[in-house]
Formats: sequence, structure tokens, C-alpha cells
Amino acid sequence: MGVPRVRMAVQSNLVSIAPMLTKLQRDCATPLPVLRHVADAMADDMRAGLAVDGGSDLKMILSYVDSLPTVNEKGLFYALDLGGTNFRVLRVQLGGKDERVIATEFDQVSIPQDLMFRTTEDLFDFIASGLAKFAQKEGGKFHLAQGRMREIGFTFSFPVKQTSIDAGILIKWTKGFAVSGTAGKDVVACLNEAMERQGLNMCVSALVNDTVGTLAGARYWDDDVMVAVILGTGTNACYVERVDAIPKLQGLKSTSGRTIVNTEWGAFSNGLPLTEYDREMDVESINPGEQIFEKTISGMYLGEIVRRVLVKMAEAGALFGERVPEKLSTPFVLGTPHISAMQQDNSKDLQAVGSILYDVAGVAAGAPTNVPLPCTSSLCRINYFPNLGCLGTKSGTGRSSFRKSSVTQCQVNSDLSARRIVVEVCDTLAKRGGRLAGAGIVGILQKMEEDSKGTISGKRTVVAMDGGLYEHYPQYRRYLQDAVTELLGSELSKNVVIEHSKDGSGIGAALLAATNSKYKH
Ligand code: BGC
Ligand code: MG
Repeated sequence: MGVPRVRMAVQSNLVSIAPMLTKLQRDCATPLPVLRHVADAMADDMRAGLAVDGGSDLKMILSYVDSLPTVNEKGLFYALDLGGTNFRVLRVQLGGKDERVIATEFDQVSIPQDLMFRTTEDLFDFIASGLAKFAQKEGGKFHLAQGRMREIGFTFSFPVKQTSIDAGILIKWTKGFAVSGTAGKDVVACLNEAMERQGLNMCVSALVNDTVGTLAGARYWDDDVMVAVILGTGTNACYVERVDAIPKLQGLKSTSGRTIVNTEWGAFSNGLPLTEYDREMDVESINPGEQIFEKTISGMYLGEIVRRVLVKMAEAGALFGERVPEKLSTPFVLGTPHISAMQQDNSKDLQAVGSILYDVAGVAAGAPTNVPLPCTSSLCRINYFPNLGCLGTKSGTGRSSFRKSSVTQCQVNSDLSARRIVVEVCDTLAKRGGRLAGAGIVGILQKMEEDSKGTISGKRTVVAMDGGLYEHYPQYRRYLQDAVTELLGSELSKNVVIEHSKDGSGIGAALLAATNSKYKH
């Protein structure tokens, strides 16, 4: 008797995918008024954060970088970069105005997953030992002037309350890090202690956020760089601000009259078009209620939001046939690189989409099989018997009613229409993310323009961009640029150049170590 009911339910569910997709697109929509609101709110939040500490979601952190690289920097400098995904070490031999960058060498490792949940000592020992190994291999074109210590520009890509150019306290972790004992500590002191444990004699001359490193690195080649944005695992932006536009500085002066401000815009949350999927992801995250802009637009989360949508569509609309693909239920299995790769599939039958779905979620290619009961969706979904998979019959509720059998088999499949929907979902989230990032950039430009007329209206202004998301997701990049053009209008937007500054933050940090060298003064 239950048999026809289940079948009916499955069939009527199937048609519900289209409205689900429509609702998703509506909830994620970013028409011009929404973009405008986000840009305005970003500018307002910036001002409030500059007025007093804690004045808004945006921390507007003073970087203590008020002299940018000049091209006259000379000598051997190191850079360390602890980002969200990778750890990099770099050395650079700077040759001054004529020779500029004589040589660079770098090493990169991905940060072991478990280190993100261990102790401060574990994390910093890992960094210091990576640095020690790298420093040992110095030779060739690299040369340290006599009597000098090796100086480091330390790029630390988390919110840090700087207390000087070479010291700062971690406010909190972001991007899934939950290392114990670091929040509230000076991260340079943590590094110094770890270097001591390694017997490594080097010193940190500049502690910088990755946005600040990127700005400095890009500025070395181009004087018009005023803003830097990271769109990678996490997201953030910094810009060059006039000192007299920063009330909370309270009389502190900089020789140049300008300083770089790290906005920490990942914490922005005002008026964003959010969905049930965003809210659920936030609640289940290790930092609920925090980094909402970051969770909406950055690389760590885009794939995860798509995954949540697909699970819902599989559950409620049988997107992949009778079952919800078990592997797809694991948070973060679907990464932003996957969704970008799926969007690059131009083939008629979306074969690459099919194989990514297979690799990531075990979704086989082909039309969903007409699954014979009693392999009911509820049985498979509730997943009482993960080791038995979908093979079996169930006569009632509870474990004891399950009998293993080999007669029924249910599969998860993706046919062409399912794959098209998957691509649509990816596009919807990439579009929202890219356009909101664009609105954020315009918010910063607007703030600069309103407070010092002529910043962008009169001249070329360069926004230096970096991060894996920006680099590897062409649709996202296009949506970002479109939003900037829509908001600024075609005339003004001609002055705004959005430029990829690949790995600029490493060289930038080394340059800032040189600018702030302990041996200069
Ligand atoms: C951090 C920022 C960082 C950004 C990009 C965010 O999660 O809070 O400090 O600049 O990620 O790496
Ligand atoms: Mg990085």
C-alpha cells in the first residue's frame, strides 16, 4: 500500500526543482539598487570604524605603514606568508632603483589541516621550521650585508590589532582556523619564540596583513595603486587613507600624511542578500555571526553554499534520482575550485560537470535509474546502515526492520538536465559573490572620493587584486567588473583599473621589511 504513495511523492517532488532554483536566484539577486545600498553601507561603515575603535563591523585597522616602497630599497629580505590555505616563504634581493628585484626564490606548502585545530606553539613551530629549512638553502645571488640580521616581512592574513609596524595582537581567527591560545597574543612574539626554539636568528621588521602586502607590492611598480583586495579563501581590502580623515588616530601623525588602513571588510554584514543556505552554514560554522561578507563572497564558502543547495534539491526534488548522494552530505566536500571548473564546461553534454559530480559526490553519469522499491528515499537518506549502502529492504521503522538483500539497488545519477541545474546554481552564487565584491570595491572608492575630492573622478586609480578565487574563477571576475562598471557608470569606471597583482603580497611584505628596516634609522 505504501508503494504507490512513495512513487507519487517522488514524482511530484521532481517538478519542484525549478521553483527552488527560481527562489534561489531571487534571494541571491543583486540588481543595481542592492549593489548601491551595499556600496553606500560599506562607505558608511568605513567612516564609523575610522571614528572610534569598535564603531562599526569594519575594524579599520591602522597598519602603521605610512611610507610605501620607493624603489630605492636594497639588500636581502625574507617574507613569510601565513594565509588561509598555504604557507609561503620567500627571499628577495632588492637592487634599488635601477635593478629593482635582482632575484627571488620561494617555497610553498599547504597548511596541514590538523594544525588549524592545534596549539599556538604547534602552528608557529611549523612556520619557524619551514623558514629554517628555507633559510639554510640561501646562496647564489643572495647576499646579506655585513653585520646585519636577516629581516622578515611577516604577512599574517588574519585580523590583527597592530600596536606598531612590527607587533600586533590577534583579534580572532577566521577562515576555519581554531588554533588555541593565539587570540589576544602578539603574533610576532609567538614567531620569535618559535624561531628561538629552532635556533633561528632572524627578526621581524614588518608585520602586515596580506592586503597591505599586496598594496605595497603593487605600488612598487605602479604609483596609482590606492586599494588592494584579496579574494581567496577569505576576503579583505585595504586602501591608502589621509591621516586627517582618521579621527581615532587622535593626533598621531605620519610623515607622509597618509597611511594604509586594513578594513577587514570580511566582517561587513549590512543589507546583504542572504538565503536560508547562508544562514544555516553560518549557524553551523565555527564562527557563527562573524565574517558574513566573507561567508557570502569568498572562496572558502562558495562551494559549500552550492553543496547545501544541491543537497536540498536532491532531498526535496530528487535532483540526482531517488537518493541523496551520501558523499555530498559532508560539509565542504565541494570546493570553490570544483564549482569554477564546472562552470568552465562548454561541452554540449556537460561531461566535465558529470565527472566532477562523480569524483566529488559519487554521482554517476546517466539518467537516474528507475529505482525499484523498497529502496525508498527515506531509507537511503536516513542512512541507518551506512555500511550496507542502499542494498536492502526495509519493512518498518527502526534498525531491526532492515533486511539486507541484493535485489534492489539504487544509484545516484546526474542526467543532462540535472547537470544544467548544477551549473545554474554555481553561476547564481558566483554572480552574487562577484557582484557584491564589486560593490564593496566601489564603496571604498566612494569613501575616498567623498572625503578627498578627485581621488577617482580626476585620475587613474588602480585596485590591486589577488587571491585564488579572483585568479581562477573567470565568471566571478567578470561579474565583479560588471558591478563596478554598473555602479560607477562607464565614464568614471574608465579611471578605475582593476589589476591582478599575482603573489604581490610576498614581495610587498619583503619591501615593507626593507622600508622599515631596523638598520635604517
Ligand atoms: C582575514 C583578513 C585577510 C583575509 C584574506 C580574512 O579572513 O580576516 O585579515 O586579509 O581573510 O586573506
Ligand atoms: Mg594569501
